[in-house]
Amino acid sequence: MSQSGAGAIVIQGARVFDGEAFLEGTPDVVIEGGVITAVGAGAASRLHTGSGTVADGVEVVDATGHTLTPGFIDAHVHLMVQNIGGLDTILKPFSLPFYESVGYMERTLRAGITTARDAGGADLGLKTAQATGLVAGPRLRISVNIIGQTGGHGDHMLPSGLEMPLFGPHPGIPSGVADGPDEVRKATRMMFRAGADQIKICTTGGVLSPTDDPRHSQMTLDEIRAVVAEAEAQESYVLAHAQGAAGIRNAILGGVRSIEHGIYLDDETIQLMLDHDVALVPTLVAPLSVLRTSESGRTMNERVLAKAVAVVEIHKAAISRAVSAGVRVVFGTDTGVGTHGENLAEFALLAECGMSLEGVLTAATSASAQLVAPDLKLGRVAQEHVADLVLLDRELTSTADLTDIDQAVTAVFQDGARVL
Ligand SMILES: [Zn+2]
Repeated sequence: MSQSGAGAIVIQGARVFDGEAFLEGTPDVVIEGGVITAVGAGAASRLHTGSGTVADGVEVVDATGHTLTPGFIDAHVHLMVQNIGGLDTILKPFSLPFYESVGYMERTLRAGITTARDAGGADLGLKTAQATGLVAGPRLRISVNIIGQTGGHGDHMLPSGLEMPLFGPHPGIPSGVADGPDEVRKATRMMFRAGADQIKICTTGGVLSPTDDPRHSQMTLDEIRAVVAEAEAQESYVLAHAQGAAGIRNAILGGVRSIEHGIYLDDETIQLMLDHDVALVPTLVAPLSVLRTSESGRTMNERVLAKAVAVVEIHKAAISRAVSAGVRVVFGTDTGVGTHGENLAEFALLAECGMSLEGVLTAATSASAQLVAPDLKLGRVAQEHVADLVLLDRELTSTADLTDIDQAVTAVFQDGARVL
C-alpha cells in the first residue's frame, strides 16, 4: 500500500452489497494493489492530502445511484462452446473453438463474471492464457473433460457411429468415457494430469446427449466413490451433473460437493442435500437456451429438443422446493449451452423460484466463492479481499430490479484493474 495513494481507486456513492448483505448508507470502497484495503463511510479520507483534496494519482469513481457488488462467480460454464445442440457443430474445423473461446471469455468478463468454473471443455491452455494476461476473461477453475459411462451424458457418439466433437478428445482434453471403478479412477487421474482443478461426473442422463434420459441413473455408487476418493487424494472435489432423483441420491451418497441442474429433485433428495451440506447449482437458464437455439432455425436432434421442452416447468418446481427447504444454492448457468455474456439472466429465474434479492446475490458471490475457490479471497466487498467488483446502473432494492440485470453492468474490476 502506497502512502501517497498513487494508483489507488476509490468508489464512492454506491449502494454496496458485501457478499452477504447490503451495507448501511453508501460506504467508500478503496482499492490498492489489486486488493480492497478499506470499506466504510469516510474510508477514502486517508487518501486525502492535508488540505482535504484527494491525493495525486488516486482515481475517484462516482457511483451515485449504482449498486456495487463483488465480481460474480459462475459455477457452471462451458467456455469452449456456444449454443450447443445444433448438428452443424460436426462440420466445424478442429481448432476453430480455440479461437472462438477468446471472444466467449471476454464477453463473460464484461458481463461481470470475474471468476468461472468450467464444467467441461476448457483445458489448461485456456486457463493459462487468462492467468498470464494473454486472453481477457474470468479467472478459471477447469474440469477438463466430463467423466461418465459409455452411452452416458458425456459420451457424444451418435447412433450413426459419428461422434459430435463437443470436447475433444485431444491431447489437452482426454476422453472421459469410462466404465467400472478402475476405469473411472484412471480417467480421474488423467483429468488431473491434464490440469483439472476439480472433477465433473455425470450420474444421470441429460438433455443434450443424443440417446439417454435425464431421469435415468448413470455410474454406479462404486464408480462415484472411486472418483471422489481419487479427487480427495488430490485435495480436490467432484461436481455431478445430476438430473433424475436416483442419480442425485447416488451422487450425494458418493460424496460429491455440488449437484448441477437437479431437475427432478424430490423430498428425499432435498433432505439428503441438507444432511450432507451439498450445494445446488440450478442452471435454470440452460433448457431455455436449448429452446432458443432451436427457434433460431438451427437443425437440432429432435430427441434433444423434446427433452428440453419436457423439463422446463419440472425444473422450476424442483428448484423452488429446494429453495424453500433451505438448500445452499450457488449461481451457475451452463452458458455455452446458451450465449456467452448473458449469464446474469439466471438471477431473475432464481428469484422466480423464491430466492430473495440478497439470496440471489449471495449465491453469485460469497456462496459461489466458497464452492469454486475457497483458497482465494473472492466474493466479498471487504478489507483484504481481491478487488473483483461490479457496478450495476441501478440501486437494487427488490427482486423486481433483477429484470434485465444483464443489461445493467456498467463497470467491472478484476484484481483491481478496470476491465469494463
Ligand atoms: Zn453443463
